[in-house]
Amino acid sequence: MGKTSKDKRDIYYRKAKEEGWRARSAFKLLQIDTECHIFDGVSKAVDLCAAPGSWSQVLARKLNENYKKALEKGDASPPKIVAVDLQAMAPLEGVIQLQGDITNTNTAQQIIAHFDNTQADLVVCDGAPDVTGLHDMDIFIQSQLLLAALNITTHILRPGGTFVAKIFRAKDVSFLYAQLRIFFPYVYCTKPSSSRNSSIEAFVVCKDYSPPKGYKPHMLNPLLTHEPCNFEELTGVNRIIVPFVVCGDLSQPDSDMCYPLNYRGKEYKYHEPVQTPIAPPYAEALSLLENRRAGSSAFVFDHDTDFNEADIS
Ligand code: SAM
Repeated sequence: MGKTSKDKRDIYYRKAKEEGWRARSAFKLLQIDTECHIFDGVSKAVDLCAAPGSWSQVLARKLNENYKKALEKGDASPPKIVAVDLQAMAPLEGVIQLQGDITNTNTAQQIIAHFDNTQADLVVCDGAPDVTGLHDMDIFIQSQLLLAALNITTHILRPGGTFVAKIFRAKDVSFLYAQLRIFFPYVYCTKPSSSRNSSIEAFVVCKDYSPPKGYKPHMLNPLLTHEPCNFEELTGVNRIIVPFVVCGDLSQPDSDMCYPLNYRGKEYKYHEPVQTPIAPPYAEALSLLENRRAGSSAFVFDHDTDFNEADIS
C-alpha cells in the first residue's frame, strides 16, 4: 500500500497532519465544541484516556485563548490541564501528564490529588479499549471506562461543570444515560461528522454538574453502587437500600422445613400431579430402563442417544 493511501481514504487523518494535531480525534472535540460550547469560561480541565494527545492539544489551545481573554478583563486564573493514559505520552507544553489505568483506584486518587484545593471546570474522556473483536466484551469494557471516568469526575468537577465522554450506542446505552442523568440535568448524545457513521461511537455531553443532595464521592462506593466498603460509614443518599419484601405471613408453611404427612392433624391422601410433563427430555431414558427391568430381549443400545447402561441404572 502506498504512503498516500490513508491520506486518500481519510480526510481527517490528512487534515490532522496538516494542522499539527497528533490524531484525527482532535476534530471530534472541536466539532462538539462548535455545537455545544464546552470550553466557555473553562480554565481547569482533565483529559482522561488522552494518548497520543490531540484532545490535550485542543484543551491547551482553547484554555490559553480563554486565559488571554480573561487577562484583558483583569480576571484570570492560569489554565490547568491534567492528562492521563495507560500509554506514555510525548510531553505537551502546559499539560501535566500521568500514566495509569483510570479504572484503578490509585490512578484516580493521583488525578484527584492534583485538584486538592481546586475543582475542574471540564472533564473529557475519549477512552476506548483495544478492540478484541468480541462485540459484547468491547462494549462492556468501554462502558466501564465511562463509569470510571464519571466516578473520577464526581470527585473533581465543580458544580455547574461539564463532562464529555465517548460512549458506544449499543444495547444497554440507556442504563448509562440514566446513570449520567443522576449527576447532570442536561445529557446530550452527540455524533461529530469526523466520527465515522459506520462506528457505534458517539459522545455524551453532560452539562451543569449537580450531584444529588448529600452525595459524597467515594472511591469504594462509586456512583452510588455498593462495592465492598465500610457500609456503616455511608449515610443519606449515599446509603441506598433496596427494600426486601417478604410475601406471606408467619402462619404459612416454611418452604425450607420438612413436615409430617398429616400436617396440622389433616389426614394424608395421595394425589396425582395436576399436569405431568408432556415430552420430558428424560422420557427415553425411562423407557430404556423399563425395558431392561422387564428383561426384554428387544433391548438394543442406541448409539445415537447420549445414554448408556451406566447412566440409566
Ligand atoms: N483522545 C485521544 C487523542 O485525541 O489523542 C485519543 C484517545 S484513544 C481513542 C483511546 C485511549 O484510551 C488510548 O490511548 C488508550 O491507551 C486509552 N485507554 C484505554 N483504556 C484505558 C484505561 N483503562 N486507563 C487509561 N487509559 C485508557
